Amino acid sequence: MYRPRNDPAPLSSAFLKLPDTLLLVFNKEGRLNMISDAWVEALGYDLGELEQHCFFDLLYEDDRAECQERLAKMSEEAPTQRFSSRCYRKEGGYLGVVWNLSFEAESGLFFASAHETAVHLSPEEPHLPDVFVDGLTGLPNRSLFLDRLEHTFRRAERRQEMQFAVLHCGLDRFKVINHSLGHRMGDMLLTSVANLIRNTIRPTDMVARLAGDEFGILLEDIRDVSSTLHVVTRILQKLQLPFMLNEHEVFSTISFGIVVKGEEYQLPEAMLRDANLAMVGAKELGGGAYMVFNKGMHDQAVRRMELEMDLRHALEHNQFEAYYQPIVNLKLGTLAGFEALVRWNHPEKGLISPVEFIPVAEETGMIIPLGRWMLQEACRQLKHWQTTLPGTQDLTVSVNLSCKQVLNAKLLDDVRDALANNGLTAQSLKVEITESAMMQDTERAISLLEQLQAMGIRILLDDFGTGYSSLAYLHRLPIDTLKVDRSFIRHLHEKGTDRHFVETIVHLAQRLQQDVICEGVELQEQADILAAMGVGYIQGFLYSRPVVANEATMLILTGLTPKN
Ligand code: C2E
Ligand code: MG
Ligand code: MG
Repeated sequence: MYRPRNDPAPLSSAFLKLPDTLLLVFNKEGRLNMISDAWVEALGYDLGELEQHCFFDLLYEDDRAECQERLAKMSEEAPTQRFSSRCYRKEGGYLGVVWNLSFEAESGLFFASAHETAVHLSPEEPHLPDVFVDGLTGLPNRSLFLDRLEHTFRRAERRQEMQFAVLHCGLDRFKVINHSLGHRMGDMLLTSVANLIRNTIRPTDMVARLAGDEFGILLEDIRDVSSTLHVVTRILQKLQLPFMLNEHEVFSTISFGIVVKGEEYQLPEAMLRDANLAMVGAKELGGGAYMVFNKGMHDQAVRRMELEMDLRHALEHNQFEAYYQPIVNLKLGTLAGFEALVRWNHPEKGLISPVEFIPVAEETGMIIPLGRWMLQEACRQLKHWQTTLPGTQDLTVSVNLSCKQVLNAKLLDDVRDALANNGLTAQSLKVEITESAMMQDTERAISLLEQLQAMGIRILLDDFGTGYSSLAYLHRLPIDTLKVDRSFIRHLHEKGTDRHFVETIVHLAQRLQQDVICEGVELQEQADILAAMGVGYIQGFLYSRPVVANEATMLILTGLTPKN
């Protein structure tokens, strides 16, 4: 319990609920007004002995001057200070702490909460625990955060009912600000955000700078997850006002990942890891949002990690297979070619969709050898059809290229090799790229696509309509065909807006002398509407799902018929 002295301080209830936190209250002369049990325990003195001390007596001599300087700076206008110092322990050595001081002008009292750095320095080791403080923001750093979290874990073991939460926060689009306004402004923004968070949470909670534009918040003694949401809402509300940085108004938002301590967590690192995952999820929602970590997310993350590890060996174990989906000439109802789509036959998990593993392959760089393999395989298969089946000379195959491949210097060699090794003409091969690949490094992508085009390879812009592309720049891109994304086809027969969109694309493509392929055609009704618009090609379940090579051979031999 606290030990109130004669003039009781107006302590907030938040303080009173936390008897085992390092808390002190003292006046301008340093006379101690209240001291929490945790101090008595941490420093090893009796309460009676501590009552004889003034605040400055607790500090290591060399640290006193700085502390006094900091106190002198505190006023109604600047009511908080944070710094580190060492405190004497009765049995020798020091306790390293980071102070979080606030000044209440009305009572003239200082409220000091401290985070123990758990570094019990001996006099032979007279280094300040500055390794625990972030140089830019003055906040505790990641090590101290984890240390404090560890401490909180231990306290929670003793107090079953105690609940606490970790929030992993990341500034949205910080890189853009850093690049457009410069690093100095970036630093100022980080400091401002650090202060904003610090002033929004309770003094007994902790905010730390974990890395770059990422902060961690530890909320102790919360009721349940809703308490954390209050904090998040308060921070987001404050962020609705811009920061004034060097006369620039800078708006910023933060994404939050939230984890409330449960039995599944034995280690602070695990909790922080999951909070980070939830934050990534929140960012994917578009930023300025929060996500609470749950078991589903955890399982998903574990699966992704397993995929990542298994993916490394999938190629050498021949686990990939190319599937082929027909592209139909809508006017003639004939087969124009195939799109090659990769599948992963996982020995334990079964068939895995590219939607799931392509992003992992992109992140790990595996997409380069995998993409090379697909190019080879698709070319080999098409050449096989062309040489063994009559009337297949004009068939083409389209291979998807991820943006990593488009930006890879070796791509041209890979394409040349795939054609040469299989004796396939460049006119038989098409490549599909998405708008996002074009956006990352437009000039470089354009130059590469032009080189492919010069070889005779045709370029398809995939998933058209889902990215950021402005119609205005479409004529600059070396594109032969637009593939309208299936999201515009799905409701084509019900929604006028989708019909108008597709119509506009068809007109535009005609003007630019580009072909149009509509993806995801499942119904005859949709095919009829597209035919009436003058769309040249369609692809979708109406004619066939993607199938293995043998089944594709059957489709070539028997011809295509719509399914309904
Ligand atoms: P995508 O290139 O847009 O491929 C079309 C996707 O739509 C395929 O999904 C196909 O199965 C699906 N689809 C086709 N017709 C219909 C339909 O009528 N209804 C519905 N609901 N879906 C239809 P899939 O095979 O799962 O591939 C998904 C995405 O994965 C592809 O989208 C492509 O972006 C990527 N991908 C597939 N194979 C490769 C590859 O070899 N390399 C790279 N980089 N990406 C690939
Ligand atoms: Mg595609
Ligand atoms: Mg597509």
